[in-house]
Amino acid sequence: MSDAKTSAYWQQQAAQLQLEGQPFINGQSVASLSGAELQTTNPADGSPGFSFADCGAEDVDAAVSVARQAYQKGWQDMGPTQRKALLHAFADAIQANGETLALCDSLDMGKPISAALGEVGAAAGFIRYYAEALDKIYNGHTVPTGNGAMELQMLRPRGVVGAITPWNFPMINVALKAGPALAAGNTLVIKPSELSQRSALQMAHLAVEAGIPPGVFNVVTGAGQTGAELVRHGGVDMLTFTGSTRTGKALLTAIGGSTIKPVLLECGGKSPEIIFADMANSDLDQIATQVARGAFWNQGQVCVARTRLLVHESLYSSLEEKIVAQAAQMQVGNPLDPATMFGPLASAHQQQVVEDYIQSGVEQNATLLLDGRNPIGGETGCYVGPTVFNNVDPDSRIAREEIFGPVLSLFSFPSDEQALALANDTDYGLAATVWTRDIVRANQFAMRLKAGKVRIVASPAQAEGAGFSHSAEPCGQSGYGVEGGISGLQSYMRQQSIELALGG
Ligand code: ADP
Repeated sequence: MSDAKTSAYWQQQAAQLQLEGQPFINGQSVASLSGAELQTTNPADGSPGFSFADCGAEDVDAAVSVARQAYQKGWQDMGPTQRKALLHAFADAIQANGETLALCDSLDMGKPISAALGEVGAAAGFIRYYAEALDKIYNGHTVPTGNGAMELQMLRPRGVVGAITPWNFPMINVALKAGPALAAGNTLVIKPSELSQRSALQMAHLAVEAGIPPGVFNVVTGAGQTGAELVRHGGVDMLTFTGSTRTGKALLTAIGGSTIKPVLLECGGKSPEIIFADMANSDLDQIATQVARGAFWNQGQVCVARTRLLVHESLYSSLEEKIVAQAAQMQVGNPLDPATMFGPLASAHQQQVVEDYIQSGVEQNATLLLDGRNPIGGETGCYVGPTVFNNVDPDSRIAREEIFGPVLSLFSFPSDEQALALANDTDYGLAATVWTRDIVRANQFAMRLKAGKVRIVASPAQAEGAGFSHSAEPCGQSGYGVEGGISGLQSYMRQQSIELALGG
């Protein structure tokens, strides 16, 4: 749908976009009780962005109590056929309003409009996947007992789910949480990132238009403090969070000091990608293209970004040259130009963070092969282009800390043992990619890598992956709890056992 559209079209759509920056509670946009306001800045050009309510404790309380009523008054009891139909209608509405949703994310956090349009299908897909799953899974089983007894092991909804989402994939993160939470029979209060609220608000409107009862899908806007109110609230039965490890830790402390509740935490990452010598006969240009994509997709603002590249020494120099060439040709530009594949970072703060990391790499004696700072020249937006380092000390900040920006560190290794040690020399444990055609090595690395998701690639040819059926659980400082697939649906349910002492 985007191909024929021009920058002028998107600029015009942006000028016409109107959305109320108020909390969405009980099926409508309502005036916030706090009366406080915040405003974003468009990262593409520094112009004023979206004004929205900075919700306080009273707003969060109003949203949670409405969600509780909606849970008790029907959503938990609704039969699977009807809930499935409503979720499908919601997915249809997301798809039908894809341009508006994509525009919201592009304006808020600088995502290139072409990429944002591509994410609409994924957002609708998550909702559809869970709509389809909900009447196919069995919500429990029986356990062995004597003949006079029966014991059922049941899966029940948890109640009111509080969802705190980040700014890097605003629409997708809402769908990834709303899909399983609603399919399982819970109601929701979402607190989107203060940098990117519009798509979440728009999705709340669409949920109601699709027929999902008022009060099932609520949104409170605001910054970290609003999230903290949701975390502390005694009426929230479960939390699901995606964001930084720092905030994940703050959440756990706050839960410990308030009320006990289960939490899904998906935090930062520093994912390794390892290329072995047995890939020498493959198309190295294609491999370089995929390495650059894995590191620089979404301007590197991806928790599973493959930011540490480990290459066997026999392939190192030829791959280094190709990767730097690939990265250098990624055109940085205005996100509302449909030709742009690499936009600004999400905010001036994020730009500063990333530029500081680049400077720290230089100061810690890494070699800057490609410097992404000031990629356009004279820009007013938050642009940092693809950046590549080699000679990186594994103990330096750029090797150890999550940068959340387009910075790739290259390492070479002489042996499998050293590759494994380097790959696992991280506090994180989100994802890892291994390029090898050796099945024994593939198996060994899959077993030993510290990562929730390991991808073994034997060929650069693209093949369809597991998509929405894929589930994974992070480890280390990357968090815990399963998201995605059927197991991800069960994360939003609690186990209950029902013992029937029947006698006879
Ligand atoms: P980043 O630093 O990349 O913006 P954060 O982890 O700070 O990522 O933010 C992720 C989400 O967590 C956002 O919606 C943010 O508002 C929220 N948040 C930030 N601080 C807190 C907190 N103390 N308690 C709850 N939510 C928070």
